[in-house]
Amino acid sequence: MIPYGAILSSYLVAAVLFILSLGGLSHQKTSRRGNLYGMIGMALAVGATALLILGKVQFPEGLAENLRGILLDDPTTATVFAAAIGIGALTGSILAARVAMTSMPEMVAILHSFVGLAAVLVGISTYLGSGILVPEGGELVHNIEIYLAVFIGAITFTGSVLAFLKLRGSVSGKPITLPGRHLLNLLMVVACVYLSIGFVTAEGHTAVQPLLWMTLIACVIGFHMVAAIGGADMPVVVSMLNSYSGWAAAAAGFMLKNDLLIVTGALVGSSGAILSYIMCRAMNRSFISVILGGFGTDGGGGGGTAAARDHGEVTTFDVDEAVEALREASEIIIVPGYGMAVAQAQHSLSQMVDFLKEKGKTVRFGIHPVAGRLPGHMNVLLAEANVDYNIVLEMDEINDDFAATDLVLVIGANDIVNPDALEDPTSPIAGMPVLEVWKSETVVVMKRSMGTGYAGVQNPLFFKDNSRMLFGDAKEVVDQLMTGLRSH
Ligand code: NDP
Repeated sequence: MIPYGAILSSYLVAAVLFILSLGGLSHQKTSRRGNLYGMIGMALAVGATALLILGKVQFPEGLAENLRGILLDDPTTATVFAAAIGIGALTGSILAARVAMTSMPEMVAILHSFVGLAAVLVGISTYLGSGILVPEGGELVHNIEIYLAVFIGAITFTGSVLAFLKLRGSVSGKPITLPGRHLLNLLMVVACVYLSIGFVTAEGHTAVQPLLWMTLIACVIGFHMVAAIGGADMPVVVSMLNSYSGWAAAAAGFMLKNDLLIVTGALVGSSGAILSYIMCRAMNRSFISVILGGFGTDGGGGGGTAAARDHGEVTTFDVDEAVEALREASEIIIVPGYGMAVAQAQHSLSQMVDFLKEKGKTVRFGIHPVAGRLPGHMNVLLAEANVDYNIVLEMDEINDDFAATDLVLVIGANDIVNPDALEDPTSPIAGMPVLEVWKSETVVVMKRSMGTGYAGVQNPLFFKDNSRMLFGDAKEVVDQLMTGLRSH
């Protein structure tokens, strides 16, 4: 038998490891270590909880009675529990190993939906089954905890499922904006508040109906809220749902009297909220306007094909001309986007950068905060290809340098270099800060066609006098450039 103190100490160590993990993940240099801390912390937390509920723990006098309800001392339930953890761990590992980096936001979204669903199911079963012994006079607070966990969990669940379907392209990324939708949301929230009064004041466990009605309404709120949000705002929605899943877990932690779940939920909730705020600032949007939705009505969401406005003719480059431009330039900035991820061009690109640097050129990367399909997408790919992170600069650090740059290579990026974001107030991406690549002497844009990007809008950059289109798959073209550079 393991002493109960050891379980509490493991929870404390796990909480510290989660904090160290978040700290580590904030920088490329320390991110691997951060991940490792997170994995050890989670293994410790799951292991300690398993021992606890399988009855392998020696409780101090009096406490055993309190926790009796959550113990699975019956061998059949214990087997079901072990099987559930085993199947979950196996499925998670297989999916994580298989998922392409470009599909990562979908995976994150569906995982958030599990957290939401878990909070709903655990909340309802806690109310019905009463595994937790509530101290005298604590009924009201306990009921509020259950209600909040189920409410936030239900919103997170349906919101995340819809975000998953939108990011996958299974449903359109266009915002669905019902007339009077804000009023509708308000009415639904008021209804949930009204139902909460009957629920929290009910004696015993008799108020199942208001709980189930609220669950249904909260599910509709989550669905309706995400439905109203356009494709270009999806990154913020994913991180917002990440935050909600954290708060749902924290509320469940209060409900289950589990300190580790409270700490972990609060960490996820607040880091998701901070990330949403940073992304909103990067897109020059207020958080409230994103959540209220309706932005990007023309949004494509997953590669639109909006009709091109008449911008004139584009000028193209062939590979030899691009090689010549690279040979002549001494200040080069590379701007990667979603297309680089699709083509998996990062390794070829990394080799080309090394080659150019050996030739005495200054080569740097400019990274937009929402380049690709998830926050940090480009940084992860470039780190994977061993690109020196000292030459990988954020948008704010590099945007003033374009005017003094000889050549910009835009590789599979579109929305994040669209001048309309700054110049056309009617554009669906108006107000989003972009990398101002057109200020450099020459811009070479590498993509396969004149197709639009995620927001589904045409890009006037391609038609500018100093822009040259170099059509083809990003990896193939970079390989050809490399062959061309080596042959000189
Ligand atoms: P975009 O989606 O705007 O553009 C990508 C471009 O890559 C396309 O125009 C496409 O053009 C090109 N492309 C696709 N495949 C290849 C290939 N194999 N080789 C070469 N080019 C290719 O990407 P950006 O990175 O510029 O912008 C990101 C967008 O995604 C923003 O609108 C952002 O809001 C949104 N978003 C971001 C998230 C995040 O967290 N970062 C999450 C969800 C959405 P073509 O077909 O002609 O080749």
